Amino acid sequence: MSTNSKTSQSANQGASARLKRILITEDSPVTQDILKLVLSTKGHEVHIAHNGKAALKMLLEEPFDLALMDYHLPDLSGAEVVAAFFKERRPDNEPIFIAMTADPDAFNATGTVRDAFVRVFAKPFDFNELLDFMGTLATGAHQPARARREEHAAGVAPSAPVNSPAPNASTADEEYEGTPDRVVSLRARPSGYEHNRPLFWPQDIGPAGFSLGARKHMASGGDYDMVVVSEPARVEDLRHLWSLGDLNLLPIIDETGHLGHKADVDLPKIPRGSAERIVQALVQEFAEARASVHLEVRQSDDLADKLLASLYVRSRKLMPEFSGASPRGFSYNVALTESEVRELTGRLETDRLIEKAFVDRLHGCPACNSVRLNVREECFECHSPNLEETAIIHHFKCAYQGPLQDFKHGSDLVCPKCARELRHFGVDYDKPGNVVSCLACGASSSDTAVGFKCLDCGVHTDGDVISTHDVFNYALTDKGRAFIEEGYIVTGATQNQLKFADLPLDLVIALNKAARDYTESARPFCLVTIGYPQRRIQLSEHGPRLVELSRRQLGENLKNYFGDAVTIRQGTDFDYLLIDRMAAENFRANIETYDEAAQSSLKIDLAPRFSVFGPGELFG
Ligand SMILES: [Zn+2]
Ligand SMILES: [Zn+2]
Ligand SMILES: [Zn+2]
Repeated sequence: MSTNSKTSQSANQGASARLKRILITEDSPVTQDILKLVLSTKGHEVHIAHNGKAALKMLLEEPFDLALMDYHLPDLSGAEVVAAFFKERRPDNEPIFIAMTADPDAFNATGTVRDAFVRVFAKPFDFNELLDFMGTLATGAHQPARARREEHAAGVAPSAPVNSPAPNASTADEEYEGTPDRVVSLRARPSGYEHNRPLFWPQDIGPAGFSLGARKHMASGGDYDMVVVSEPARVEDLRHLWSLGDLNLLPIIDETGHLGHKADVDLPKIPRGSAERIVQALVQEFAEARASVHLEVRQSDDLADKLLASLYVRSRKLMPEFSGASPRGFSYNVALTESEVRELTGRLETDRLIEKAFVDRLHGCPACNSVRLNVREECFECHSPNLEETAIIHHFKCAYQGPLQDFKHGSDLVCPKCARELRHFGVDYDKPGNVVSCLACGASSSDTAVGFKCLDCGVHTDGDVISTHDVFNYALTDKGRAFIEEGYIVTGATQNQLKFADLPLDLVIALNKAARDYTESARPFCLVTIGYPQRRIQLSEHGPRLVELSRRQLGENLKNYFGDAVTIRQGTDFDYLLIDRMAAENFRANIETYDEAAQSSLKIDLAPRFSVFGPGELFG
């Protein structure tokens, strides 16, 4: 270990004492998780805010020593949060602000409010540099915010100029000598990954978790767009992908062929020439689909939510593939174990976020659950499969019936009862059926039993008591898709839990009045939320101005359409319509007409999603 990193370590210890409570405001789930992980292990008490509003609330309510703010947040900007904070805070509430941004130029152009930040780190930033800087903060080399602002007001340049750090200005790279060189491993590969940022198994993420290099990369706001499995791995080995941020929503490229249909690309099965094109298209597809997953879902720690989002991004059903290699007889096309899938699909199905369809019925050994069974015809008496089937002969003349072998006399047939010779089939005799004789115990019968013998544990089970297991495939329901795109408002709503706290205040008051009218005079009303699941894509394609204009135009259109009966409020993520004298079922019945009216003459397709709530759904 170098002297440098020793210095930074002791500085970090000081940092955890001096900068005890840290607030991280960051909307990337991966960066959140990593920053939290690393700073917690350094002894800091780390809290996370997912957006600007939450950050402001937390900053005002509980004093923090340090606030690390992503500057570009989905709701308020970092500047707005800080400006509002200084307006409302108690005088002794003085956190140190550090900004993180992918666009330092835009940050530097934000005017006076940027002086509230002691430092801005350009994303992706060097994680060691952040830790070192926190070390210098802890030694008191930086003045508290108030002193800085007073200096600034007096025309003195701020003591900590706002700078973006020089790229690669790492101070403790020696610490990471053990991690493989990403650049080298990239160059060594034939093709396909040049344009992408792969997370390699097991170099970046191994059985023990993430490498320091990968953590550093992610903590500094760097992201990945694919997972490349370069050595044979089992599903259990990839477990970490489901525990950190939304890495489970990256395509898995399996170079080894071991994961089979659990990977997104089974590279050995793809012609060499087309691999690059296929991988490239997939990375693009996944990135676009990920952008439509609501932040709440991307940030969820619930494995069921993660599985649901994974199906959405992969736009595929959960399909069983049958194989004797698996003791259960089949496996699902997702990088989870079969028992995990069974538990999670059960929950998701109960919530009606997915629906199942019957695929097949398997029989299982009651002793060991194996489906590797030998199915056989057996003797009813002794369960021996050593059976012989023979025809029954019916002698017309004397009406005697018996098995063929009793009639055999050399090459002739002779009746054992009356000793006459049987010559012509259909004239002297016929064969009304078969009889099964057991060569083990001698019993004979016209029928056989079905039995199962387990190939794994040897236990025998009678056919009528064998356990069966039905296998299904699973697809997202409309509700599941809506949940992915719009977040918890969808699932909350069906449990009569539309979050009133999220509604604009005057709308809540209007709702309250409508509810009173409804109880007193049964006057119907409905509340319609309008979500924009494609918002992120639209923002990047058309820019915020056009999207905002179109959204306002959509509101105007609805206002014109419904006239005085409607109250319209624009929220951050949703717009709300309160429609007087219209029952929810009426709105639902004509939803296409309303959708068309709402979108008439819009310059861009906003792809709004309407959710309708009647009094019953709103107030239980
Ligand atoms: Zn006879
Ligand atoms: Zn027998
Ligand atoms: Zn068994």
